[in-house]
Amino acid sequence: MPIARPKQLATRLLRQSLVIIWLTIIALLSLDIMIDYKTHRSDTLSQIQRQVTLINQSLASALADNNTLLAQQTLQKLLSDPRIYRAQIQRASSKNFGSTLRQSGVNIDGQLLKAIEFPITSSNATLLLDIDMQVAGYSFFKRSVAMVIITILAVSLIAGLLYLLFERRLTHPLNTLIRKINKIDAGKVTSLPVIKGHENDEIGRWIDTTNQLLESVKDIRSKESEAKANASRLRRFDELTDLPNRQYFHAQLRQRINLAKNLGQKPALLVFGMDGFSAINARYGNAIGDKLLMAVTKRLTNYRGQSQFISRISGDQFALLCEHINNSYDAGQLAQSLLHALSRPFGIGDQRIQISASVGIALYPQDGKTAELLMANADKAMLQAKKEGRNQFQYYLASTDAKMRRRKALEDALRIAPKTQQLSLVYQPQFCLEESKVTGAEALLRWKHPDYGMVSPVEFIPIAEDSNLIIPIGAWVLQNACQQLAHWHSKGEKNFQVAVNLSAVQLKQPSIVRMIENAVEEHNINPSTLILEITETAVIDNIDASVSTLEEIHELGVKIALDDFGTGYSSLNYLKRLPLNKIKIDKSFIDDVTEKKRDGMIVQSIIQLAHNLELSVVAEGVESFAQHEFLRNLNCKEGQGYFYSPPLKSAEFENLIFDNEFITTEEASVELE
Ligand code: C2E
Ligand code: CA
Ligand code: CA
Repeated sequence: MPIARPKQLATRLLRQSLVIIWLTIIALLSLDIMIDYKTHRSDTLSQIQRQVTLINQSLASALADNNTLLAQQTLQKLLSDPRIYRAQIQRASSKNFGSTLRQSGVNIDGQLLKAIEFPITSSNATLLLDIDMQVAGYSFFKRSVAMVIITILAVSLIAGLLYLLFERRLTHPLNTLIRKINKIDAGKVTSLPVIKGHENDEIGRWIDTTNQLLESVKDIRSKESEAKANASRLRRFDELTDLPNRQYFHAQLRQRINLAKNLGQKPALLVFGMDGFSAINARYGNAIGDKLLMAVTKRLTNYRGQSQFISRISGDQFALLCEHINNSYDAGQLAQSLLHALSRPFGIGDQRIQISASVGIALYPQDGKTAELLMANADKAMLQAKKEGRNQFQYYLASTDAKMRRRKALEDALRIAPKTQQLSLVYQPQFCLEESKVTGAEALLRWKHPDYGMVSPVEFIPIAEDSNLIIPIGAWVLQNACQQLAHWHSKGEKNFQVAVNLSAVQLKQPSIVRMIENAVEEHNINPSTLILEITETAVIDNIDASVSTLEEIHELGVKIALDDFGTGYSSLNYLKRLPLNKIKIDKSFIDDVTEKKRDGMIVQSIIQLAHNLELSVVAEGVESFAQHEFLRNLNCKEGQGYFYSPPLKSAEFENLIFDNEFITTEEASVELE
């Protein structure tokens, strides 16, 4: 359907006004012309009557004297009036006494003539006049035409003025208002402006009223959106605790699991079931129960550590999604901390109420790849925790639970380990391939717990690192290794070197340089005989800070070795920036060095690279004569591994190494066969 062009109000008003004006004017004009016509006609007749009166005496004398010439002359006088066309005297005997005709040369149609009779005084004769109506009406006609023309001009002028008036006073302000209203619709303005000159008229009042209307619409809208927001909040949040409700939590859980999948995160879901909550409700009443739940919420939310999302999923159950845990163990740590936070009694009114919770932990992805499964499994774990005796947490998988419990137990045990006799150091010889003798050793930590027995450093070092216990333990290692080194130096092995492993956590300690310096000074050892082994992963986090710490250590004269080389980024950039003395080729390359050509090539390249950078190379995990020979042919400086010796207790080490009882390479090859 074609869109109708907008009509202009001013034009329509003008058209309608003009119709009315025209009709009125035509009526008035016609009336005026009619009246004018009548007046003119009677004026003409009375003027002619007057002329006839003037000549009446003369005509009467002419008739009395029968003087035709006089009559003719008198009639001729009458014809000087252009309106009189013909004049004649008619006697009763109906004989024409005298007659005269205007010599205009024009023969006038009888219809345009009007005959009038006048009696002539003292005679029985009549004066007959034919009036030329065309001439008589001409002046009337001229006047009428002029009047019509003037009227048309006047009406045109009025029309123009009216148009301007309508346009200025109506169409223009209305168009302005339409534009403004469109802007309100587009949200650009909120009210209509006052239009100049219309402040107090209908338009002004209309604007005021519309603005009031707009205000109330705005008000209604904001109330409506507030109500909507409230309704949607009610749909998502729990009224009592203002925490997200179960539905909303589920939706969020689904989203966050997707996100975790994409980002490679491993979130943990903790479900808290309050222990014996119904008994509390029964004893103190629901109102106190509600207040207790609010207080529990406060404690749980106050503890919000690493980006956690808490929800009240049912009457006495809360769920907590912990998005950024470093490892599964942290989830248990968090559960334990929250259980601890809840263990303090709650003061509700005059009551002091003690409550505990049972916590189920489900880990993504191993305990469930979907929100539903994760939730169900966390629930099951929570029920298991309740069965196990409440006020504790439980991982969903029994194996995870056992692993985490062992980890927790080891962490607790490690806390006191440096102060007991449980820690010891063993020394693994480092064999110099050039000189065919042991020139140093790596100090390796051993932990023998009265209940758990020998615990591998592969298990306890990460626990010590995560709990920062590596700091006191590492200090203990350094002290003991330096003491041992000093002892061996005192026995005459002045150039003997000991390597100590330095963890990333230790490297980040601001006091690390001071600690190393103190150890060197305290035991009065040549700093160049102490080697600190660091891994790439230890420096990678904050390369700038690590470089500056390592440079300070380097300035002490202490040597630095890059451990497990080849397993991390093995970036040449690190090799260039770090103040290194040694690199240790990781055991994984040495394992297949003789069987796999590729590994052989890699080891060869690393040795070549180290030589070019003037770094010494140690091959780790050398287990066979063939590996030893291979490395020796490549000019590898040192080797470490079971082929030479396993890690030894200090006394054994002294016996075997320093007392020259150390197995030669040839003997070893025979022995290993
Ligand atoms: P690492 O620094 O790479 O130490 C070498 C590990 O390889 C040692 O295991 C050693 O016993 C083992 N090993 C040596 N030669 C051979 C071989 O020929 N074959 C095999 N299969 N293994 C060999 P360990 O003593 O169990 O230590 C494991 C890891 O624990 C160490 O790896 C180190 O990262 C860490 N660690 C040990 N002691 C300390 C310490 O005092 N402080 C720190 N921060 N970490 C330590
Ligand atoms: Ca090492
Ligand atoms: Ca290593």
